[in-house]
Amino acid sequence: MNSGAPPKAFVVGWPIAQSRSPLIHRYWLQKYEIAGSYDAIAVEPDRISAFLAGFGDDGFVGGNVTIPHKTAAFNAADETDDTARFLNAVNTLWREGDRLCGTNTDVCGFLQNLDETAPGWADDPGAATILGAGGAARAVAYGLIGRGFAPVRIVNRTISRAGELAALFGPPATAHSFKELAGLLGDTALLVNATSLGMINHDPLDIDLASLPLDALVTDIVYVPVETGLLAAAARRGNPTVDGLGMLLHQAVPGFQKWFGVRPQVDQRLRARLLADIGAAG
Ligand code: NAP
Repeated sequence: MNSGAPPKAFVVGWPIAQSRSPLIHRYWLQKYEIAGSYDAIAVEPDRISAFLAGFGDDGFVGGNVTIPHKTAAFNAADETDDTARFLNAVNTLWREGDRLCGTNTDVCGFLQNLDETAPGWADDPGAATILGAGGAARAVAYGLIGRGFAPVRIVNRTISRAGELAALFGPPATAHSFKELAGLLGDTALLVNATSLGMINHDPLDIDLASLPLDALVTDIVYVPVETGLLAAAARRGNPTVDGLGMLLHQAVPGFQKWFGVRPQVDQRLRARLLADIGAAG
């Protein structure tokens, strides 16, 4: 470690060009006038273990980990917290002495986005319906069960994956196919899209919201585009909505604080920069 040198952090993935993490962290470095750096590094899957074992030698204090390396990061960490262990995935790494520590900030990013954008959303938790059973759905279900939502319905194209996820959580969670969705929406208080449907260059999410109560909160964790087809349809019929960009921004906060020593604010200028960048891509 080159102590005294400005702290350096990274985001590692394969591919990595799509990552908006450099935009976020460089904005905060500038805002808080911190002499540090944050770079995107593309590392192929067969090189990730070596990269994670040795990044401290290159002067990095830590970094973010994105697809497809989150499980490798979990395996590489000497210490992980309950959230990372439950998700079996690490997206944020930092060094404490010789120890490599890891957590997963998707859960707190998802929850803080709703706390900030829809105050009181979890004061009287009811039934939640989550579309998807991948890594993001797992983080969302973990967060919602922690906030007392019950039942938490996991609806997925591949029903066996929904079943595996529901079994991990036990009773508050149940597994369903999309054929059951209309029946499930009738008493849903919170609807979450955690599939990749609706994302740019992916198939649209084609569901009928007719039976969803008009006061149900609808949120999408897809953020390219920021206003997804689901959010637009929900808003048209009067449901309150929260987009997924805030999750991306809030999940970045704990890492920045670990590496650079300041807890950064998710402010409107940062959100505007991301909106412009996503708009330019779309
Ligand atoms: P993943 O593990 O690959 O899971 C993808 C999910 O989408 C699975 O449930 C999959 O169903 C479903 N799916 C994909 N194509 C489908 C189709 N044609 N029809 C029906 N279902 C389909 O991905 P992930 O990591 O969970 O990420 C999911 C989305 O969340 C991505 O768009 C990602 O960008 C977004 N995300 C956003 C944030 C944020 O900060 N806002 C954070 C994390 C992830 P099957 O199981 O049937 O394949």
